[in-house]
Amino acid sequence: MRQKYVVGNWKLNGSLPGNEALLQAVLAGVSPKPGCHLAVCVPAPYLAQVRGLLEGTPVAWGGQDVSRFEKGAYTGDVSGAMLREFGATYSIVGHSERRTVFGDTDAVVAEKYAAARKAGLVPIFCVGESLAEREQGVTETVLARQLDAVLEKSGPAALDGGIVAYEPVWAIGTGRTATAAQAQQAHAYLRGRVATKDAAVAARLPILYGGSVKGANAAELFAMPDVDGGLIGGASLVAEDFLAIWRAAVAAA
Ligand code: PEP
Repeated sequence: MRQKYVVGNWKLNGSLPGNEALLQAVLAGVSPKPGCHLAVCVPAPYLAQVRGLLEGTPVAWGGQDVSRFEKGAYTGDVSGAMLREFGATYSIVGHSERRTVFGDTDAVVAEKYAAARKAGLVPIFCVGESLAEREQGVTETVLARQLDAVLEKSGPAALDGGIVAYEPVWAIGTGRTATAAQAQQAHAYLRGRVATKDAAVAARLPILYGGSVKGANAAELFAMPDVDGGLIGGASLVAEDFLAIWRAAVAAA
């Protein structure tokens, strides 16, 4: 039986007082459950603050991206070792906003995945098709290309201890959620593709859904057999919304 995950992605949002209020409200409402994991992925400057607020609580934390390099002349990058120094468990890798706004290619994402693993982080490896790609009927081709970049660079064993997040680009921040059936179909496809390389790794692999998840749609999504929780953007910025999604994950576990 796989475990459930609810991971917030704050994106480029936050302030010292706002973060504290949000996390205090989350902590006040969270009831831990074995086999269920709750985390927030925060902008790097807030890692120290978040560590101070969350250490010893049921809520873990992570980065939103990781450098593909370990150290050196890479201005602006944050390494996996740096994230680990601040107690991060996770790092998002290959989010569609990194791919589309910052030009991360499949090859770069694969390098970042490998760097995250090497540093001891749990990568949350995002894949997903655009609206145009879905309408052209090439969703699975796109998912295969994105997934294979990591499989080819690091091998299927590297997915053991990692997390995949299916995030259809047309559903991110748009209020338009994939139906539970659409999510299940994509997740089953991803798991099946990993299974062609290593069936045991595929069976254990957590695959999260991301794209306008809310308290109102989380239960239906998390009830799908291949949906192991959610990567949550907008709703992770509102304690009650984030907690409602957490409760749906706990109920589905
Ligand atoms: C995300 O940023 O990964 C995301 C899924 O955002 P939202 O929940 O706002 O669609």
